[in-house]
Amino acid sequence: NKMLDIQKIRADFPILEQKVNGKPLIYFDNGATSQKPKVVIDAISKYYQEINANIHRGVHTLSQLATDAYEASREKVRSHINAKEVYEVIFTSGTTQGINLVANGFASLISKDDEVMVSAVEHHSNIVPWQFLCERTGAKLVVIPMNEKGELVMSEYDRLLSSKTKIVAVNHISNALGTINPIEHIIKKAHEVGAVVLVDGAQATPHIKPDVQALDCDFYVFSGHKICGPTGVGILYGKEEWLNKLPPYMGGGEMIKEVTFEKTTYADLPHKFEAGTPNIADGIVLGTAIDYLNEIGFDNIQKQEKELLSYATEKLLEIEGLKIFGTSENKTSVVSFNIEGIHPYDIGTIIDKLGIAVRTGHHCAQPIMNYFDIPGTIRASFSFYNTKEEIDTFVEAVKKAKMMLS
Ligand code: PMP
Repeated sequence: NKMLDIQKIRADFPILEQKVNGKPLIYFDNGATSQKPKVVIDAISKYYQEINANIHRGVHTLSQLATDAYEASREKVRSHINAKEVYEVIFTSGTTQGINLVANGFASLISKDDEVMVSAVEHHSNIVPWQFLCERTGAKLVVIPMNEKGELVMSEYDRLLSSKTKIVAVNHISNALGTINPIEHIIKKAHEVGAVVLVDGAQATPHIKPDVQALDCDFYVFSGHKICGPTGVGILYGKEEWLNKLPPYMGGGEMIKEVTFEKTTYADLPHKFEAGTPNIADGIVLGTAIDYLNEIGFDNIQKQEKELLSYATEKLLEIEGLKIFGTSENKTSVVSFNIEGIHPYDIGTIIDKLGIAVRTGHHCAQPIMNYFDIPGTIRASFSFYNTKEEIDTFVEAVKKAKMMLS
C-alpha cells in the first residue's frame, strides 16, 4: 500500500522541468498525449544509433536484431493485454488506424439490412469510420444514448440490440468526460445477439491494464503516445477468428505470401495487416513504455490519479458558476468544465500564459457538446506524475482568469 514517490517519478520526465511562458510547466493535457520518460526518449535514440535496419527480410545481423526487438515488443504487448496469441497483436499507427482497418474490412462482411452501433460518447475517430462503412454498405448507424451524468444508458442499449446488430463500437473510457463505460455488460449483451465488439481503449490504456480475454472483446485498439510511448504507433488486438475473416487493409510488401499477376495470396497473421516497412523504432519503444508503466504499477497509477481527481473536483467546485460535465462516479482522472458566461477558449488562453496546459474545445466529440448544448469545455486530464500542488496553482489560475473575464 505504498504511495508513489512523485518527485522521483517526475524526475523521469525531462519536459516537466521546463518553464513555459516563464512559469513552471503544469501539464494537464494528458488525455491528448502523455509526456515521455527518459527511458523512452533514450530508447529511440539507442535504436537509431545501434540497430537501425529493416525487419523481416535481411539475413544480416542488424536486420535480425531489429526484427527480434520488434517481435519482442509485440510479445510485451500481448502479455500486457493478455491476448491469447502473439499474432493477434497488430502494430498500427494509432487508434485511428486500428478502427479504420476494422471498419473498412467489415464492408465485405455486412449488408444493407444490418446495423452498426456506436455510443453517444465516442471520439470522432470511432464515429466517422463507421459512417464510411454505413455509406458503402447501406447499413444503419445506431447510437447508444447517454444521460446527464455522461453515462451510457444500458436499458436503451439492451433495447436497441437485435439480430440486425452486427458491430458494436464503443470506447472503454470517454476522452471528453472521463466516464468509464460498462464494457463488460456491452460485450456480453452484444455477443448474445451475435454482434462483434470493438473497444476503443485510447483513453483507458493510460490508466488500466486491459485483459482482452477476460473482457472477451473481439477487437481492442489503443495508441502508444497516450501511454508514455512515442507518437505514430498503436495496437490493434483482434481475436484470431475475426482477424482471419477480415480482408487486408493495405496491400504491399510484407503482407503477402505469393504474388503473381494473376493472383496474390496473403501472409499469415499478424503480417497480413502490416503492409510495408512499419514504424520499427517506435514499435520497439512502445514495449519500453509498457515496461515503464508496469514498473510503476497500474494499482499505484490509479491510486494517485484517483486522489488527484477528487482533490481537483472538490477545489474546482468551490468556484462559483463552475459546472463539471461528466459526473459519473465511475470515471477516470478527467475534469471537463465550464464557467457560466465565459468561453472555454478564453480561460485556456489566459492560463496558458501562466504555464498551464489544458485542452479547450469539443475534444473531437462534438455529439457530446451538442447534447449539453455547449461549444466546448475546458478539460484538465491528470496523470500519475501530476501533483496536488499543481492543482492548487491551476485552481488559482482559473479563479484569476474568471475575474479577468467577468
Ligand atoms: N479514441 C479516443 C477515445 C481518443 O481519446 C483518441 C485520441 N484523442 C482517439 C480515439 C484517437 O487516437 P489517435 O489520435 O492516437 O489515433
